[in-house]
Amino acid sequence: MPVLGGKRGRVVVLGGGAGGAVAARRLAREFTNIDVTLIEANRNYQACFYSNRYVGGLRSLDAVTHGYEALALSGITVVHARAVAVDGSKKAVALAGGDRIAYDRLIMSPGVDFKFDTINGYDEKAAAIIPHAYKADAQVAVLKRQLDAMKDGGLFVISAPRRPYRCPPAPYERAAMVAHYFKNHKPRSKILILDSKDEYPLSEALSPLWERFYPGMVEWVPAEFGGHVQAVDVKSRTLITSEEKYKADVANIIPDQHAADIARQSGLADASGWCPVDANTFESTLIPGIHLIGDAIDGGDMSKSAFSTASQGRACAAAVGAALTGGAAKDSRLANTCYFLIAPGHGLKLGGTYKATNEGITGLTGFASGPGEDDALRKTIANEGDAWYTAAIREMFGK
Ligand SMILES: Cc1cc2nc3c(=O)[nH]c(=O)nc-3n(C[C@H](O)[C@H](O)[C@H](O)COP(=O)(O)OP(=O)(O)OC[C@H]3O[C@@H](n4cnc5c(N)ncnc54)[C@H](O)[C@@H]3O)c2cc1C
Repeated sequence: MPVLGGKRGRVVVLGGGAGGAVAARRLAREFTNIDVTLIEANRNYQACFYSNRYVGGLRSLDAVTHGYEALALSGITVVHARAVAVDGSKKAVALAGGDRIAYDRLIMSPGVDFKFDTINGYDEKAAAIIPHAYKADAQVAVLKRQLDAMKDGGLFVISAPRRPYRCPPAPYERAAMVAHYFKNHKPRSKILILDSKDEYPLSEALSPLWERFYPGMVEWVPAEFGGHVQAVDVKSRTLITSEEKYKADVANIIPDQHAADIARQSGLADASGWCPVDANTFESTLIPGIHLIGDAIDGGDMSKSAFSTASQGRACAAAVGAALTGGAAKDSRLANTCYFLIAPGHGLKLGGTYKATNEGITGLTGFASGPGEDDALRKTIANEGDAWYTAAIREMFGK
């Protein structure tokens, strides 16, 4: 289909993660008259999803690290650079180093950044010592090295954030995977989850499983009993709540979150810290011509997950292609499934289907693993999760 005006269309995709890689590949494949440029800061993508399995010793770092070669081979111009500004009126993205890349439409999927001002003493510098390990970067390997170096009988403390945040079950899956690693290598060690909430996803199904798989090892402290971490002394790895001071051997602080800096600094987020979009097209309601997907947006009823983000990436690519060619975007079906592994071969899941309404992305159906399911079903879910990961990586990186 020709692009309106007879010229080739120019779409720039900012962020080559779960949303950006999917949207870029879709556009390049389905709209041959559109030139697609992907801007991504890192040469490799270290997938957050399945990084917990790496922490637990079930996957290698290589198995969760992926390169952009196949995107370049499929006609996408891949630019490895940090974007420093988006100019919606001039329709250009400025890169560190001074280059500017012009677009007809921009798709952004830059993920999240952290509210470093919410925990006294915890900032970007402190995160080099007490990792958040919550972005697609080298931090997960730092956490893994610290756990490997920890003595048997040590205390691992995770601080879980307030909602909304990326992948709500992930802090608890991380606790489970670390518990699996401790059980095999450091059985006298303990795990403490200090929570800034009074609930966590799948808790009904999970409550009996902590004791079944990791008896006496994992303790959860909700906010109402002093779980919210207010301050940290990085040097002594001490996490301070309203009730107590906890001295950790290894600590993992996952701070509260908002849309990635590039989105907020470019005027694409509202007072909530997240980016409002038209749920049909994912076009920003603040700056026209810019579409946003993934963890950076106010996703309504949809959880922030790689599964959700990829589903939004497909719908957004169709909408952007239609806007540039004058065609009609196909009806976009949005879906999410989050897989949770508590022990090898024992999976749980939650998710749903969604549709775009004038109020935003609205839930249609939902499901969640419940207590009492048999082990055969849990094994099937664990296998489903592995099949999903393989398919998700193939869709993003073509391998
Ligand atoms: C521990 C953990 C476990 C998880 N497990 C699951 C799971 O089992 N299932 C699931 O569905 N989801 C899971 N998730 C969530 C999932 O990883 C995210 O929801 C998903 O990656 C969001 O995609 P995104 O495209 O919004 O952001 P990302 O995938 O983070 O991609 C953003 C990209 O943008 C780039 N970028 C940002 N700013 C700039 C800039 N200024 N210039 C250039 N590039 C930039 C970044 O380098 C990054 O590559 C998990 C997350 C974590 C932390």
